[in-house]
Amino acid sequence: MAPTELDERDFANLRRHMVESQLRRRGIGDARVLQAMEKVPRHRFVGETVRWAAYDDEPLPIGLGQTISQPYVVARMTELLELNRETRVLEVGTGSGYQAAILAEIAAEVWTIERHQVLAERARELLAALGYTNVHVVRGDGTLGLPEHAPYDAIIVTAAAPQVPAPLREQLAEGGRLVIPVGDEFSQLLRVVVRRGDVFPERDVLGVRFVPLVGEQGYPPRGET
Ligand code: SAM
Repeated sequence: MAPTELDERDFANLRRHMVESQLRRRGIGDARVLQAMEKVPRHRFVGETVRWAAYDDEPLPIGLGQTISQPYVVARMTELLELNRETRVLEVGTGSGYQAAILAEIAAEVWTIERHQVLAERARELLAALGYTNVHVVRGDGTLGLPEHAPYDAIIVTAAAPQVPAPLREQLAEGGRLVIPVGDEFSQLLRVVVRRGDVFPERDVLGVRFVPLVGEQGYPPRGET
């Protein structure tokens, strides 16, 4: 069958297979994360030309030089946030909106911030069309966080930062968790930071590769808008 002829049933089968082979088999154990990954139609978050590859074990382009992350990385980062039905989450780097949809399946409320207007609008429309009423897409510089809705029980950054932006640390609730890739443009380590009063213990858990976090507390823009 030509990839363009895939229908919703085919996508559901590919999604089940992705959860089994890429997530469960590699140690993702949080049932809420696995359920969310099995439910959210990842193929709706990518363009038609790459839709057939939506459930492959890799990141995909979403325009403006940006990407939707590999399913395993989405699942692992979500698991590290230790979400529950009461959690209020901030995501920095909306991109396609896929990670926001996964968060919205598990948490109470999700704020997600994107620096590119086009991506923010597209994600807002798609998330609304899919029926998500607990996700709020904001356009702006996420390296400054979103102080008007802080504190957050969980913060996830889906772009590579040179260091942990201080505003994000400050906007964590007591006991809150921040998951962020830290490193240079070629490779980063996924860092988990926890707030214990004024102390922020942290650990690095996984090597990853993300597009850069561009902003006041991130990398400078490189000849783009
Ligand atoms: N989470 C996304 C998804 O599910 O599709 C993938 C995110 S993509 C790897 C990184 C995103 O971060 C890009 O859309 C990029 O424009 C955005 N970004 C980079 N710097 C940012 C900043 N300072 N504030 C907000 N978004 C930023």
